[in-house]
Amino acid sequence: MRLVLVGPPGAGKGTQAEFIAAHFDIPKISTGDIFRANVSGGTDLGRLAKKYMDAGDLVPDEVTNAMVRDRLAQDDAREGFLLDGFPRNVAQAGELNGILDELGLALSVVLDLEVEHAEVVKRLSGRRTCKKCGHVWHLQFDPPSTADVCDRCAGELYQRDDDKPATVRHRLDVYAAQTAPLIDFYRSSDQLVAIEAIGPVEDVTERAVAALTPYA
Ligand code: AMP
Repeated sequence: MRLVLVGPPGAGKGTQAEFIAAHFDIPKISTGDIFRANVSGGTDLGRLAKKYMDAGDLVPDEVTNAMVRDRLAQDDAREGFLLDGFPRNVAQAGELNGILDELGLALSVVLDLEVEHAEVVKRLSGRRTCKKCGHVWHLQFDPPSTADVCDRCAGELYQRDDDKPATVRHRLDVYAAQTAPLIDFYRSSDQLVAIEAIGPVEDVTERAVAALTPYA
């Protein structure tokens, strides 16, 4: 299965991507994760991406597209993949179609995780990430037993720069302006399947797997 996952920031794309990719045994390719790994590794790409990420803006298309092109050309992506966070605008979607054409592949389906605006703001502003193990907690929905300390590894918890309130608002504006039109793009080409991404994580995964199984 060649799958694209879309939805607003805070829809739980990263979490669901893990479970869905494991269920269908396909590699998860997350552009946000690749950028963050480059930021931590201090690469040129990381230095370039960081200033856009911290501001809640999209990294320029030519940089992102080249990164995805390289990743999709790797062997493990031949038999299927899950793209999380790419494409993020209609131009990237066109580029993705071009990349897949060159590889002689086609998308199987696009899954849209639907969540209301107010819920997304609540989810993003409460998110806290462990500096040591990377586990993500939530002050309201999955709180650590001691504030700012990871229950798994005792690492220090922090708020991602791009989860700070002003940046969250900006990321949602960017989503509305650039990424939401992507949903119409895929709907009009009949490639879109949508599920409600609310309620317990396991329920959303179950809904996602049920919606995707016909395309596997
Ligand atoms: P995410 O973890 O998917 O929310 O991505 C974090 C940040 O990485 C985004 O706010 C963007 O700055 C950048 N990013 C991730 N994917 C893309 C993409 N497809 N195009 C441009 N920027 C991206």
